[in-house]
Amino acid sequence: MKTANFIKENNARQFWQPMTHPADAQANPPKIITGASGVRIRDIDGHETIDAVGGLWNVNLGYSNDAVKQAIAGQLDSLPYYSTFRGTTNDAAIELAYDLCDFFAPEGIQRAFYTSGGSDSVETALRLARQYHKLRGQPQRTKFLSLKKGYHGTHFGGASVNGNNKFRTDYEPLLPGCFHIPAPYTYRNPFNETDPARLAQLCAQALEDEIAFQGAETIAAFIMEPILGAGGVIPPHESFMPMVREICDRNGILLIADEVITAFGRTGAWSGSRLWGVQPDMMCTAKAITNGYFPFGAVLIGARMTEVFEGDTSGKGAISHGYTYSGHPVGAAAAVVCLKETLKADVASNAAARGAELYSGLQALAAKHEMIGDVRGGHGLMAALEVVADRASKAPANAATMNTVYETAYRAGVMLRISGPNIILSPPLVLSEQDVADILSALDAGFTALG
Ligand code: PMP
Repeated sequence: MKTANFIKENNARQFWQPMTHPADAQANPPKIITGASGVRIRDIDGHETIDAVGGLWNVNLGYSNDAVKQAIAGQLDSLPYYSTFRGTTNDAAIELAYDLCDFFAPEGIQRAFYTSGGSDSVETALRLARQYHKLRGQPQRTKFLSLKKGYHGTHFGGASVNGNNKFRTDYEPLLPGCFHIPAPYTYRNPFNETDPARLAQLCAQALEDEIAFQGAETIAAFIMEPILGAGGVIPPHESFMPMVREICDRNGILLIADEVITAFGRTGAWSGSRLWGVQPDMMCTAKAITNGYFPFGAVLIGARMTEVFEGDTSGKGAISHGYTYSGHPVGAAAAVVCLKETLKADVASNAAARGAELYSGLQALAAKHEMIGDVRGGHGLMAALEVVADRASKAPANAATMNTVYETAYRAGVMLRISGPNIILSPPLVLSEQDVADILSALDAGFTALG
């Protein structure tokens, strides 16, 4: 075990971190997190903060769930690993599939395919979408449509449907045949429309137009987050996803709900699709499926796909896709217990109640601090503040401003996530009323520090 000094000295020296410039990390060393309990994390100097990021949208149950830890330890003892490729499977993976299909029955889910995380889940869904159309004798349906501002992970397929250049440009050329439509983002959109219902209609029309332009018969799937997450927490009007479902149905296009963030209670409902009353053809999940205790994910599959794959007699329905860790028994065992704990604690209800307090508190902060240009949230515990240099021009705040808010809040006892001009909040769903108040007062301190 190395000393704390050794760890600090070597911070960012050998370890290239994701989403980070290596030279920048060396110049401005990242915080070294060494411990966590409940909804709090602790850094190497012993400073404790509420984790308003919830790990990375995944630590819904907090950091101290004994039942999950015991399940993982027990599974490590009985079967630490075995492959689920053709010919073998494991008991934990079978139990989990049963539980997931039961839990997501209202979304029309019938089957589960396991992955190692969110990007894998997106990749899996895109690949299965193409195979589905080939099985149905429509091999020309290969294109994908998605939302600008969407985030679907960092594999080549996911990056290709991502709607933010930051995750695309340096890695081009990406997958051909991926097209994007405007996001239902009231604060900034090409239509200058601020009414959420009218904007939803304009975006749905843009989807119709793009389908007509490309030719419906060439499109495999539309993928969307029920609430855009990494793009800055952008909830659409409630009419949007149902309209998208109807348009997809009318055009023979599969609807993939990327629920890597929104599944398991984050939105105050048990999934984003359930929040909007939509049954997607596939749901991509990961993150809170194991609460961060183990890397794991699942693609959940609806009736349309189940019928076609299981009804195939040509042999072409064989899934020539999968990961060494698909159905990892330790991840599956963790997920089985996470789901039980999630239901037992009814985290969706707590997310809805605490989320409402957080959202109204954020609106009060915006009334006080001119630099808060937009407040987004209102659906469970996912919220964002968009910070601007001035409200009239909506010019985004610069990095120094964002850093001042971040560091001030950190000193005041709250870890925030900064993404461009956005402060993104996705705390554990087991948050208390007092924790919400503490997050709001740390944010207040952060904005007050800007003078
Ligand atoms: N889809 C969405 C909606 C996400 O938010 C993320 C990660 N934030 C991913 C996919 C990718 O997941 P992972 O980082 O686990 O690969």
